[in-house]
Amino acid sequence: MISPHLKVVIDLSRIRRNAEEIKARTHVELWATIKADAYGLGAAQVAGALAGAVDGFCIFALHEAWAIELFTITGKEAIALGPPEEMDSAVWIEARVRPAVSTAGQARQLLAARPILCVDTGMQRFACPAEQIESVLSAGQIDQAFTHAIRVDQARALKALLGGRNIKLHAAASALLDHPEARLDAVRPGLALYLGAVRATARLVEARDSAGPVGYGQWPSPTGRHGIILAGYSNGLRPGPVMVNGRRQKLIEVGMQTAYVTLAASDNAGDEVVLLGGGITEAEVGFAWGTTPHQAIMQIARHGVREYIG
Ligand SMILES: *Cc1c(COP(=O)(O)O)cnc(C)c1O
Repeated sequence: MISPHLKVVIDLSRIRRNAEEIKARTHVELWATIKADAYGLGAAQVAGALAGAVDGFCIFALHEAWAIELFTITGKEAIALGPPEEMDSAVWIEARVRPAVSTAGQARQLLAARPILCVDTGMQRFACPAEQIESVLSAGQIDQAFTHAIRVDQARALKALLGGRNIKLHAAASALLDHPEARLDAVRPGLALYLGAVRATARLVEARDSAGPVGYGQWPSPTGRHGIILAGYSNGLRPGPVMVNGRRQKLIEVGMQTAYVTLAASDNAGDEVVLLGGGITEAEVGFAWGTTPHQAIMQIARHGVREYIG
């Protein structure tokens, strides 16, 4: 649920700078991953901001391109990384999206849509096993292939299978950008484009000195003072680090639509609680939540009222 009290400011110039920095660092093509509404940041806005800075876009499924008229707003092609859900080539061609295929049958059916081969190097989901690569190549006039990779040896495996054949190869998402061996002919980061671009805040509606343990959990506030924001787990929040007036504090208890924040003596109602950005990183929120930075950024960004700058 979107909380009207959770403000999410997305800095599009930071996303563009991140893209330029990745291009300068990797020296290969950059295909920006904007699947899942650009990780909750808004795919149309992000794609529009990145159009001039990237070589193309990656989405998960064709309908994500239709939803925002991706080619119309950017003039750039896209790759759908997920399994093809549409078998009529004309639909892909019209959207200017290339399907990823993993079987000879898919490659044959989608030949006119210039399919890209998705190779299995260990993920074991919708990708072509090594022993079937030749049959897909002969069926689909493949000029590009990729693998989902979390380790550099998977990029190496892709190159060993398909290198030297005039096929464009790519493997690296954000985690492998710094491994030169994983860069191949292009990189496909999502997260690395969005780091530092989101600032999420909520205001304290109450602040008080704690009279003993607080909330449902009857937690003792370690600072002896606490406040309340009007966003909770129905808005994606979970206990973790926040910043109030330049000091690190904690969401000590998160309820359905409210949360308790530890406070310093000088913090008052109306003050801003920073949930992400301004010193609170995606990585530390993900860590506190026992999950990935991807999930942290998405879970916060998609549950607030978004505003764009830059
Ligand atoms: C999501 C995804 C990416 C981008 O991942 P990040 O970790 O956000 O950079 C790249 N490639 C594939 C196949 C993906 O599914």
